[in-house]
This record gives sequence, C-alpha cells and structure tokens, in this order.
Amino acid sequence: MAQPRTRQQPDDGNPRGLHFLTDLANTVHEDPDASAADLQALLELHGGPAFRLTDADARELCEATAPVIAILGADDPDTAAEAINALLDRYPARPRLVRLPGRPWSLHTRAPADAGPTHWLLSTAALALGLWLSERGTCAWGRCAAPGCGRFFIDTGRRTPQRYCTPRCATRVRVATHRANRAAD
Ligand SMILES: [Zn+2]
Repeated sequence: MAQPRTRQQPDDGNPRGLHFLTDLANTVHEDPDASAADLQALLELHGGPAFRLTDADARELCEATAPVIAILGADDPDTAAEAINALLDRYPARPRLVRLPGRPWSLHTRAPADAGPTHWLLSTAALALGLWLSERGTCAWGRCAAPGCGRFFIDTGRRTPQRYCTPRCATRVRVATHRANRAAD
C-alpha cells in the first residue's frame, strides 16, 4: 500500500517557514516535475505569497529547490552555513516583521516587486534556514531514516536528535524491529 502523503502542520511562524521548505523539498524530491497546481497548493497551505504560477514558474521553482534540498541534506553546520551565505549573497532577503491575523509577529522576507518566485523562494529559504541554524547551532533538520522513506524534516526536539520524519515512520520501524526480533527468537 502506498504511504499516504503527510504534510507537517502549516507554518505557525515557529519554526519560521521551515515546514514549508521541507514540504517543498519533499514534493520536488518525489516529483522533479511537480505541476504548477501542486506548488500553488503548497504555497497556499503555508500562507505563501499569492503567485499565480505558470508552468514555466513551476519548472523554475522546482529547479530553485535544488540548493534548499542540498542544505537540508547537510549535517555539518559549516557546510550548511557556507551554502546559506551563498544564497544570502545571491538572493538578499529584505526581512520585515509581519503580524498575520491571530498570530504573533514573525519575520518574513519581502522580495523586490519585480522578483519572481525563485528570488522569493531562495531569499525566504536562506533567511529561515540561517535563523534556525544560528538559533540551534546545529543542522537541526534531516532525512527520515525509515527504510523507503527518506523525507526531509525539521528537528524541533531539544534532546536526542530526531531520526524519523513522523511518529508514523518511527512506529513502522519499531514494529518491524520488534517482528524481526521475535522471528529471530
Ligand atoms: Zn519517514
């Protein structure tokens, strides 16, 4: 049975926009030709800007996701910081505190008026990942260790590093290990 697609909860400003980035990375990783409709739905789910994405925009966004995927795949903070700095140089973020209805103030980026989705995405990603890296001091993200999964996640835990994308994957691995141990008895 195919695993149902699960999405992390829409971003509540904490951690800032990061769940959008992992959702986007997972979507593009699973389908490098994700459609404009898919990406549009993802933006809307996470309260992103109301781009009306064309097919050309969708292709551009899928390509622009590559550096985000590379950073989310890094587990060395020095490597990640260099990659984030390269994005900050190339796609400068213009941070602004914004208060969405019913939410606390949170830092958003405002791309130049004529900037397309790529500039918006990569300036947003660089700021969000940079803030998260500086706050946690480590690459507090990763890829799910469950066999056949490999989805990216944001590690919001404070103690042991997270290994699985969701409790569902953790349970799946625990049950499989338990069965294997019983079979070996
Ligand atoms: Zn998983």
